[in-house]
Amino acid sequence: MNYLTIGIEAGGTKFVCAAGTGPDDLRAETRFPTTTPAETLARVVDFIRTVQREHGEPAAIGVAAFGPLDPDPASPTYGHITTTPKPGWAHTDFLGALRRHFDVPIAFDTDVNGAALGEWRWGAAQGLDTFIYLTIGTGIGGGGMARGNLLHGLLHPEMGHIRLSRDPQRDPFAGICPFHGDCLEGLASGPAIEKRWGQKAETLPPDHPAWDLEADYLAQALHTFICTLSPQKIILGGGVMEQRHLFPRIRARVQASLNGYLQTPAILEDIEGYIVPPALGKRAGVLGALALGEGAVK
Ligand code: ADP
Ligand code: ZN
Repeated sequence: MNYLTIGIEAGGTKFVCAAGTGPDDLRAETRFPTTTPAETLARVVDFIRTVQREHGEPAAIGVAAFGPLDPDPASPTYGHITTTPKPGWAHTDFLGALRRHFDVPIAFDTDVNGAALGEWRWGAAQGLDTFIYLTIGTGIGGGGMARGNLLHGLLHPEMGHIRLSRDPQRDPFAGICPFHGDCLEGLASGPAIEKRWGQKAETLPPDHPAWDLEADYLAQALHTFICTLSPQKIILGGGVMEQRHLFPRIRARVQASLNGYLQTPAILEDIEGYIVPPALGKRAGVLGALALGEGAVK
């Protein structure tokens, strides 16, 4: 059954809102910059009202948001953005702001769990039950599924903040994470690349040493995730992964790093099909939010 749902991709720099039943049936879409919570959430409410007027009542709403956030329906602060450093947004009751206006089921999860669900529903993870989706952009975040359930737990995974080993001879850059310095995000996010090399990541040529280092750090991280979660596939999205030459470099390093320990064809023979870009491309985020909505339909 295809339901008309609303997807809100709530990013730290922009919001993308869509209404439809899937990638081939998007009936409305809008995007606007993330400003104050009051102003930005008012624009979300406006979008939903317009959809109601023009396309009828949606069956549900899905919100895929930047975090950290509270994804636990049993918690008093469920649906809040919690400790984000983004000015003005800490402790914002995102879900409450929508519930005040709309009496339909609303799903609320991380942007990366949303993107993972979108890839599961319509993209690269169809038919799988355990996989991860990582975004390497302004920050690094990871979501995914284990045995068919989106990953939640104590809070939600923070795969961007794992520690890596850094050789200070080769990479004296101390990292930019305000909490951990040289964690994965501190070393390998877009802003980390920019700070280390003094120019925007998108302006560095493919033969720049930045990219071997980037591939090394991402491969270290994937080694850890493969060994901890045993994903059937790893999807790598976000602005930095627009550098498509990173894929073969990361794959080769992951194979070398695992060193034959995991005797599975996915890693030994078909690594091109194992570490992949999002099939939904840049639309993974908003389609993921739509898929979250679909999952909330009662
Ligand atoms: P966000 O994380 O804000 O949702 P993106 O995923 O586009 O947005 O990530 C933005 C980061 O990715 C910036 O640090 C930018 O420098 C970097 N970036 C964007 N496009 C590219 C590209 N083509 N090549 C390398 N880095 C890029
Ligand atoms: Zn960190």
